Amino acid sequence: MRIHRFLPPVRTLGLLLAASALSAQSPSPLTDEQGAWLAERGPIRMCVDPDWMPLESIDDEGRHVGIGADLITAMALRGDLRIELIVTRSWPESEQLARQRDCDILSLASASTERRRFFDFSEPYLTIPGVVVTDLDVPFVRSTDQLADQTTAMLRGVSSIAEIKLRHPGIRIVEVANYEEGFSLVQSRQVFALFGNMASISTALQRNHIRNLKIAGTVGLDANLRVATRNDEPMLGEIFATLVQDLDPQTIQRITNRWMPVRYEHGFDYSLLWKLLPWALLAIAAMLVWGFKLRRLNLALAAANARLREVSRIDALTGLYNRVPLDEMLEAAADHCKVERKPLGLAMVDIDHFKAINDRYGHAAGDAALRQIAATLMRCFADAGFRVLRLGGEEFLIIGQDVEPAQFGAQLEALRAQVADSPSQFQQHNIPLSVSIGWIASVPDANFSPEQALRRADAALYRAKAQGRNRTLGD
Ligand code: GH3
Ligand code: MG
Ligand code: MG
Repeated sequence: MRIHRFLPPVRTLGLLLAASALSAQSPSPLTDEQGAWLAERGPIRMCVDPDWMPLESIDDEGRHVGIGADLITAMALRGDLRIELIVTRSWPESEQLARQRDCDILSLASASTERRRFFDFSEPYLTIPGVVVTDLDVPFVRSTDQLADQTTAMLRGVSSIAEIKLRHPGIRIVEVANYEEGFSLVQSRQVFALFGNMASISTALQRNHIRNLKIAGTVGLDANLRVATRNDEPMLGEIFATLVQDLDPQTIQRITNRWMPVRYEHGFDYSLLWKLLPWALLAIAAMLVWGFKLRRLNLALAAANARLREVSRIDALTGLYNRVPLDEMLEAAADHCKVERKPLGLAMVDIDHFKAINDRYGHAAGDAALRQIAATLMRCFADAGFRVLRLGGEEFLIIGQDVEPAQFGAQLEALRAQVADSPSQFQQHNIPLSVSIGWIASVPDANFSPEQALRRADAALYRAKAQGRNRTLGD
């Protein structure tokens, strides 16, 4: 603790001259009794917040500066007080010294029930709106309700913490040592907002050149700042009550304006709103149109991608699936049958002597035959919920889940008969067609492998071919 003689700050000289001129003209508002008590008592020791600009602080030369300093100076001149500044390093230290009666007054303090155990309070002589600083994308904040269930940072030792905890138990409070710590918590999104008073928060935002945060609004927790005097000296309280009462509102406004970094408008500047509104609406409209167009383009792109993906899975000649989705479809059907404990049906269908058709009638006749058989497969199986794929050349695969083996065999046999009964009409030719079919139908067990299942169906097909073709053979 360092005791420093109270020296008026350089900046206040003009005001002091004006004030002394004023005090010379009008008599002191204090009574003779109060004047005599002060003369007897000796200097008044004052503790302040050493780091709370623009409200107050202690500068490098140990002088009390800021709005509060100028106002205390004005009061001291009116009442002819001798005030000694007690230099501290923090507000909690100042408050502690004042509670121990090592300071007689606190220059700018808000009243709380807890503090009233130690101090008398003058009427408020400075009212600073409580505001919250948030990320730029947070909409306007108008009341503490919007902070409910959010985490808000507040300066340690600020009396409104207790008040907020009491009035809004939903708000989670993180105490920070200074505004800078609060800003970085908001920037890193560890807290939703930082609460503070309008004056010092805007000073701190400017001092730290912070552009990615904003004052999102007022929350109805204004700081009503008063002179706190030790309550074991009621006369001191009476004197400051009188001096605060005596302060001229214009003087308070002038001093406040001089120290404020940005002019704070009580209420809203509507003329600015009307000037900016058309541009803002235009910008919003442009963003909406752009967003709408972008969404349409994105939808079209997604649809095109989906089509492309589907096209890559479809065989161009027959319109059946190609090999691309084979693994995916086979595994899905096998997984389903495993869970349901139902048979998985697989049938390999291969056109008989297809090479001979090409050789005899030409490749186009072969293509027509492929399309005709594909159409039959589509009608008899794909339409009934089976997966039908052209594995390549003149070879097809049918995948069925939950099949009943005997019925599956009968359906395949009907397919074989239908193909055999429907020769392909190509140009003037009547081309007889037939297929050989090898199939399996069993419940896949834990050791099921798609490759092995396909091999078993293929082996059955091989046997069907070996037995003379145009036949259906189960595993
Ligand atoms: P098998 O009864 O033993 O199955 O005899 P195959 O002649 O049907 O069998 P092979 O494998 O010897 O001949 C298949 C032929 O299918 C050979 C190939 O030229 C023909 N082929 C493969 N893809 C196409 C196609 O897209 N169009 C046409 N027209 N022919 C094709
Ligand atoms: Mg063949
Ligand atoms: Mg073949």
